[in-house]
Amino acid sequence: MKKEVHHAKIATKIEQSGTIKMNRRQFITMSAAATASGALLSATGHAAPDKYVATKTAPASLFLDIKDNPLRLTDKCKRMPQKNTIFSRQLWDFEFVQKVESSVDRTSLDELRKNKGWTQLDEALDEAAWAVDHKFASGSEGGQPHSMAYAWDEHVRKQKVTFKDAADASKKIKKAARYLGASLVGITDYNPLWTYSELIKEKFEGESRQEGPPEYEIFTPEFPFEPKSAVVIAVEMDYRTIALSPSSLEGAATGLGYSHMCEVGYSVATFIRALGYRAFANGNDVSLSIPYAVAAGLGELGRHGMLITREFGPRVRLVKVFTELEIKPDPPIVFGAWEFCKNCKRCADACSSKAISDGEPTLEGKTISNNPGALKWYIDPEKCIQFWRDNGSDCANCITACPYNKVDTWPHRLSTSIAALPVAPLHSFLSQLDKQVGFGNIDNLKGNANFWVED
Ligand code: SF4
Ligand code: SF4
Repeated sequence: MKKEVHHAKIATKIEQSGTIKMNRRQFITMSAAATASGALLSATGHAAPDKYVATKTAPASLFLDIKDNPLRLTDKCKRMPQKNTIFSRQLWDFEFVQKVESSVDRTSLDELRKNKGWTQLDEALDEAAWAVDHKFASGSEGGQPHSMAYAWDEHVRKQKVTFKDAADASKKIKKAARYLGASLVGITDYNPLWTYSELIKEKFEGESRQEGPPEYEIFTPEFPFEPKSAVVIAVEMDYRTIALSPSSLEGAATGLGYSHMCEVGYSVATFIRALGYRAFANGNDVSLSIPYAVAAGLGELGRHGMLITREFGPRVRLVKVFTELEIKPDPPIVFGAWEFCKNCKRCADACSSKAISDGEPTLEGKTISNNPGALKWYIDPEKCIQFWRDNGSDCANCITACPYNKVDTWPHRLSTSIAALPVAPLHSFLSQLDKQVGFGNIDNLKGNANFWVED
């Protein structure tokens, strides 16, 4: 359905009933915000006042695998209900949704959408990039757990493949995951702390939503088996179009990331089921992603609330496969990103809605979509979403501006190694140098205009 039709429906619902259901595409594609929301937990070398579940100070040595999980959590950190995530609030928090919608300046939005990057041509690419996700994995976007490609109970072969040991299983599964399209893959133990305490699922009739307030059910996550391992997969998003944030072309990069999540996650889960072990993939619908990614050694958490990988920076999407198969976990890694973030702040400067903190890490955020109890830079997902609605697409300014966001080449790896040196003035210098040489530009209208004429 075209966005204009969605917008018209929303406006009508505000006028008629005072309750609205935000356009799913608009609300849902705020995916960077979800992953950057308070649902996510932090890795840090900071001291904090409470008892930690696990701590680790960033080592000075480069790219050192560490034995302990670097997540720094207090005992106030609990499982959060899915209904509090910023996406799921569209189902029940009409006051918030109405506040967001009524704040949108539709005249400015109409003006903005006359620019290259927001044309029908651009939107068509955006829609096409999301198409696989929308068709096969509604669970990855708005949180429709146990559905479509992310269903929990698909067929499992009776005959089991046996492995020499858990390390052998890891080797084979990681090889298959890369073959099936994973850009990065790591293994960690299943941890119920990261699974939502309650799930929320909208009731559909057929494939379409009903008029009026959405109907939903809330239920506890009872999987048909006890997961033992999580295969954590990162899929790279397109560098060129992420850099066109905010625009529909950037939305295409995000959408394609979601579609790849669905494809790769489902394929890896199918591989494990064909080995004779129960498994299912999940996106944003069942559990948090970043704690798993940190635990599985894919990267560190940044100021912008997203995972920072060594290879692609934050320019990835994450999908997990839970399985009953015991697989040897990978060690977490620390390569200095948290320390770099203390002196960088490029993402906070690039965030038009001021949703990203430029201060010190804290133990709680400001909204119900922040899950307290972890020491981290909490973003304000409500401000973030407001900006998404205001610009008529979504936003990846914080990904674009991050100096770790580069194509994975040896110069990038070398500069990441240098950035790992624990010297604060060097971090500030490198961050500014990166900007001076032209990386991380946002509001790139020229880039948007050139997209369709460049080879
Ligand atoms: S830059 Fe700000 S508004 Fe944009 S996605 Fe990041 S947090 Fe949200
Ligand atoms: S832009 Fe700078 S401060 Fe923000 S996450 Fe990236 S490295 Fe950290």
